[in-house]
Amino acid sequence: GLIQVTAKRDEVGEELYKKIQTLTPHTSIGVKGVLKAIPKAPNGVEVRPREVKVLGYASVNSPIQLYARKLPSLDKRLEIRAVDLRRPTAQAIFRIRQEALKAIREHLLRNGYHEIHTPKIISSATEGGAALFPLLYYNKEAFLTQSPQLYKEQLVMAFEKVFEIGPAFRAEQSRTLEHLSEFISVDVEEAYVDYRDVMNRLEAIVREVVGVVKSRCAKELAMLQYEPQLPDTFKKFTYDEVLEILAEHGHKVEWGEDLSSAALAKLAEVNPSYYFIIDWPTQSKPFYISQKKGDPKLSESFDLIFGSLEIASGGTRVSSRRVLEKRLKEKGLNPKSFAYHLKVFDYGMPPHAGFGLGFERFLMTLTGQKNIREVTYFPRDQRHLTP
Ligand code: ATP
Ligand code: MG
Repeated sequence: GLIQVTAKRDEVGEELYKKIQTLTPHTSIGVKGVLKAIPKAPNGVEVRPREVKVLGYASVNSPIQLYARKLPSLDKRLEIRAVDLRRPTAQAIFRIRQEALKAIREHLLRNGYHEIHTPKIISSATEGGAALFPLLYYNKEAFLTQSPQLYKEQLVMAFEKVFEIGPAFRAEQSRTLEHLSEFISVDVEEAYVDYRDVMNRLEAIVREVVGVVKSRCAKELAMLQYEPQLPDTFKKFTYDEVLEILAEHGHKVEWGEDLSSAALAKLAEVNPSYYFIIDWPTQSKPFYISQKKGDPKLSESFDLIFGSLEIASGGTRVSSRRVLEKRLKEKGLNPKSFAYHLKVFDYGMPPHAGFGLGFERFLMTLTGQKNIREVTYFPRDQRHLTP
């Protein structure tokens, strides 16, 4: 905990006074004493010590001073992350992380979603092969999962409304402020609904979490000098509308292309907070995303964006085995590798939809952090495999 301890020489006696002077910053101590009401102290109280025990002596000089305005670089801080996380502003970020996580889970449980755990060791790619981490599974090649996509889809057959909060692994080729090699994904999947329904669910989650964080973490937000904003409605722009908006601002994007970071930065000038981009070209979305009825070039898909930061992707899923096989082939994937998945579709796969929300990306929008590593306990990227 955090409490002010004041030792007055004439009160504590010479021996204890000397002992206290040998304490170094970061040392863990136990204190017995008398609690006094002191209006000027941080929580209105302080302890006048009678006995002080050293429980963990800090024998080296820490480069991280808890209340310093100027901090060592992030890379330096990450080298001793456990110590870095003792800083009050880091504590504020991770208290918000905890409240946000709790609020998401409570929202989903309250609304009848069943919490699942899916395998993290898998046999084939779901989100494009390049970003997979291979590993040796006994005598076979296997991979770390990029997303629980296929397993959460399978589980709606039995549980209808499911969610998972767990790690996803991606061997990202570029080093950015918003990509980790290992991140926490909040995945939701639901039967008998389409992408509009799950967009509403996602908006409800974001609204509730922002509200909870604002009320339960007011002190933490003040320390971070940040106030999360919520627009009255989350606007929904179609991909085609976005291309028009960008053209009006002198930014040309070829139809079918993904939006570059420059394009997203332009959009952020018009929409600094949360908004959806819906109805993406089918070619730019994964094989399991459903095409739009009457317009197969477009898909029933969405991204939730905050300014220029993508925080979630989702859509209506393909629920027909025949279509799924066709889409796999179109993406250059081998249906044989997905046989274990395709075969359950023959047993009455209901229509379904869902999304994946990047938890750390969402936290960036809740805490005002520009670097995803600041909201992650021990970030993993191309340069960080330890600590
Ligand atoms: P991006 O285009 O930003 O790389 P993506 O479209 O490849 O992301 P999805 O497959 O849609 O990512 O994953 C769902 C969500 O997971 C994303 O919207 C994002 O919030 C989060 N996410 C994806 N990759 C990463 C990563 N490397 N680090 C942190 N979060 C990620
Ligand atoms: Mg995406």
